[in-house]
Amino acid sequence: MIVMKFGGTSVGSADAFAQVAQIVKEAVGRESKRERPGVVVVTSAMSGVTNMLIEAAQRAERGDVSFYQAQQDSLLLKHQVVAGRLIEDGSERAALARVFEERLAEFDRLCSSIAVLGELTPRGLDVVSGLGERMAAPLLAAVLRAHGLRAEAIDATELIVTDNAFGGAAPITHLTEARCRERLLPLVEIGVVPVVTGFIGATVEGVPTTLGRGGSDYSAAILGAALNVDEIQIWTDVNGVMTADPRIVPNARSIRQLSYEEVAELAYYGAKVLHPKTVLPAIEKKIPVRVLNTFEPTHPGTLIVEKVQAEARGTVKAITAIRGMNLITIAGRGMMGVPGIAARTFSAVARVGANVLMISQSSSEQSICFVVPEASAESVIAALHEEFRRELEHRYIDSIYGMPHINIIAVVGSGMRGTPGLAARVFTAVAQAGINVIAIAQGSSEANISLVVVDADVTSALRAIHDIFELHLPTEERMRPR
Ligand code: ASP
Ligand code: MG
Repeated sequence: MIVMKFGGTSVGSADAFAQVAQIVKEAVGRESKRERPGVVVVTSAMSGVTNMLIEAAQRAERGDVSFYQAQQDSLLLKHQVVAGRLIEDGSERAALARVFEERLAEFDRLCSSIAVLGELTPRGLDVVSGLGERMAAPLLAAVLRAHGLRAEAIDATELIVTDNAFGGAAPITHLTEARCRERLLPLVEIGVVPVVTGFIGATVEGVPTTLGRGGSDYSAAILGAALNVDEIQIWTDVNGVMTADPRIVPNARSIRQLSYEEVAELAYYGAKVLHPKTVLPAIEKKIPVRVLNTFEPTHPGTLIVEKVQAEARGTVKAITAIRGMNLITIAGRGMMGVPGIAARTFSAVARVGANVLMISQSSSEQSICFVVPEASAESVIAALHEEFRRELEHRYIDSIYGMPHINIIAVVGSGMRGTPGLAARVFTAVAQAGINVIAIAQGSSEANISLVVVDADVTSALRAIHDIFELHLPTEERMRPR
C-alpha cells in the first residue's frame, strides 16, 4: 500500500490533472500485484488557490468586500475548466458543480462575516484557507473515475484529529490512526482509491484546522504512518531533491538517495525540500519517502530512507544557502571567563522571539556571534543592549552590533561524519574563489558545515563548493578512487 501526494502544480491545470490520473492508474496496476495492495491519494489545492483564499480573508478583515466577491468567479472557472475538459459524464459534472457551489457559498459567508466583524481570527482563517483542498479533492476523485478508476473524495477533517493550534496544528496520533484505519482501509480493500484533502484536519470537537503552509506533505506522512504503508510518494514539479538550487548552480543534479537526517539538515537550511516535521511520522515508522516529478514520471527522483545504500552514501550530498540574514556580534575583553553571558544572550534573543540559525564563539571568549533573520536584527540588538546595560557601562562588553547582507551556506551530508579533510576542501574551494568567510560552524552531528558569507559571494561560493566535491557527477562515480 502506498500514499501518493500531489502538490499544487501537479493539480494546477487540466493537463496536470490528466497526468496525475495516468500516474495513479499505473500505480494502482502495480499495486494490485503486491501482497498488500492499495493506493491512497492526498491532494493540495490547485496552485495559487491557497494564497488567494488567504489574501481574500485578510482583505475582508480590512473591509474590502469586492476582492473576495470578484475572486469567486475565477475560482469557479479554474475548477470548472478541469471538469469540463476531463469529465464527460453529465451526472458527475452536475454533482461537482454542486460541490463547487457549496464551497463558494461557504467562502462568501465566511468572508462577509470577517468583513462585518472586521476581525480575522486564526480559527476563521483556517476554515477559509482549507477550502482549496476541499474543492480539489472532489475534482480529482471525479477525474480518476473518468479515467476508469474507483475513487472517493474524503475530507481530512474526518481523519486527522489535531490540537487547536490554528494555522499550524499538530496531529493527535492515536485518534488519527484509529480514524484513518476505520475509514480508509475498508475502501482500499475493495479497490477504491481514497482521495484525501491535504493541509487540513479538525479538532476532537470537529473544528477545522490547518497543518501549516505546505502542509499537504505532512498530511501524506500522517496518513502513511497511520496506515503503515510501504512508501509515501511526494509528487511535485521537480526531479526530487537537487544537489543545489539549479537556478544558481547550473550543473546541479538530482540526488538518488538521502537519509532522513540529511533531509532535515537541508530543510533547516532553507532548501526547498520536505519540512523536517513532514518526515517525522515517516521516520518513526521507518517508511521510505520518494520525491517524484509529475511532469517527468519516469525520472527516479529522490528516495529518502533511514539508511542510504552504501553506493549512494557519498560524503557531501548537497549545498544550500539561506539569505537575508544578519550576523550579530557581542564583543569585549571583559567577557572572558564570565559565566552566564551566553545564557543571558540567548534568553534576551528568545524574549523577542527571534530564531537563531547559527552560533559561534571563539575559544578566547572575546566575542560571541550568531545569525538571525534580518527582520529580527533590530529588536535583537535592542534587547541585548538592554540586557547588558551594566556590562556595557563598565566596558566588560565593548560593543554589540549587527552586520547585514549575510548568508549561511550549509554543506550537508551524513557521510561527512568521521571523514577527515572535508572542511579543508570546503575552505580551499572558497579561498580559491577569493571569498572571505566571516564565520564557520559545524554541528556535532557532523552532518553539516556552515559558513557565513556576504551577499556578493553567495553564488560563487555555492558553485565553488559544488565543483570541488564534483556534485555534478552521480554519487557512485564521485566515490570511485582515483
Ligand atoms: N495548499 C496548501 C498551501 O499552499 C498546502 C500545500 O500545498 O501543501 O500551503
Ligand atoms: Mg503547495
